[in-house]
Amino acid sequence: MKGWLVRGSLRRRLLCAHLVTIAAGAITLLGTTLLFAPSLHDRLMIAWLGPHWSMTADAGMVEMERATNAIFTLAMAQALAISSSVAILVAVMVSLAASRQIAQPLERLLVAAQRIAAGHYRERAPVQGDYELARLAAQFNTMAAALENAEQRRVALIGDVAHELRTPLATIAGYVEGMLDAVVEPDEGTWALVLDEVNRLRRLAGDLQELSRVEAGQVALNTTAVAPAALCAAALARLEPQFAEKGVMLRIHVAPDLPPVSADPDRVLQVLINLLGNALRYTPAGGEVVVQAVKAGDTVQWAVRDTGIGIAAEHLPHLFERFYRVDKARTRATGGAGIGLTICKALVELHGGQIWVESAGLGQGATFFFTLPLFHHYE
Ligand code: ADP
Repeated sequence: MKGWLVRGSLRRRLLCAHLVTIAAGAITLLGTTLLFAPSLHDRLMIAWLGPHWSMTADAGMVEMERATNAIFTLAMAQALAISSSVAILVAVMVSLAASRQIAQPLERLLVAAQRIAAGHYRERAPVQGDYELARLAAQFNTMAAALENAEQRRVALIGDVAHELRTPLATIAGYVEGMLDAVVEPDEGTWALVLDEVNRLRRLAGDLQELSRVEAGQVALNTTAVAPAALCAAALARLEPQFAEKGVMLRIHVAPDLPPVSADPDRVLQVLINLLGNALRYTPAGGEVVVQAVKAGDTVQWAVRDTGIGIAAEHLPHLFERFYRVDKARTRATGGAGIGLTICKALVELHGGQIWVESAGLGQGATFFFTLPLFHHYE
């Protein structure tokens, strides 16, 4: 309630602005009245006594006209002074209510902002007041929700990273302690197992660094015109030996005359290799992986289709989230930390494309799609 008294506060300034407006109006009215009242009185006299009354009037009559003129002007001025005072009083009350209407939602917004700044991310501002103020509060709440979400993700990330570090570190500690206590043989096999865990930690550190760089927008794209067929050929050349070794067929279906896309070839290759690596990992020997690229509107759409273990419907919406793994125990053993697809998503979106996954269910294989804009759209 005492907010409006605060020096320089919005309510105080609104009140002052209203008062100045009313005072200016009252002074103008008074000035205009004093200026026009005598002639108005004369016109009234003419209307009452006729246009030639002054010619027939005696000295007493003229004197009386002067006196009534002065009285009329004074009465007008007094009436105006009284009505102006009443108007100012009413205006102060109306102005107080109106400034309260404006200032109260803003004060609530201020309190909410202060609480959020102090770390209370659940705080929201009441959506009240006039149209703009209500919109401001709604927008503020959207921003607060985004902040809360970012904070939750930050906390979750720290928890996830700690969790990911704990398992390999515990394994390494187990082997080293076993060797110190002479329970485990310090032979080549043991050291190879230790090295495996160290490499997993190294991979995790590298993935996390890459993810933070991509998500922070620190990855500069060297965008050029890239032929989809050339990209697929490069991915094929990299991964063919691994597919052959596991006994999984890898096929590419790309029309040679497909228009070029606007992309950083290294980054798109990274996405393709990641998707193909996953397809290989989750497809048993004897299976097949097909890479397809077709024109779809203003984009080229890639599809990496496998005949592997498939993905149950409940996991599909979460697959691109950080550290999300369908079968945590199994995939940890095979090396994935659940960051690969998150990086792919960030990279594709950085190019202005989209990425998504479809699967008919467990045992039905999976298809990962992503799009990249055609080159001419950027020319
Ligand atoms: P990871 O490094 O653990 O593979 P990703 O982010 O690449 O992490 O993948 C997240 C999860 O998505 C994997 O743990 C796996 O459960 C699932 N997944 C990814 N690709 C496939 C696929 N082709 N078939 C079945 N499941 C897959």
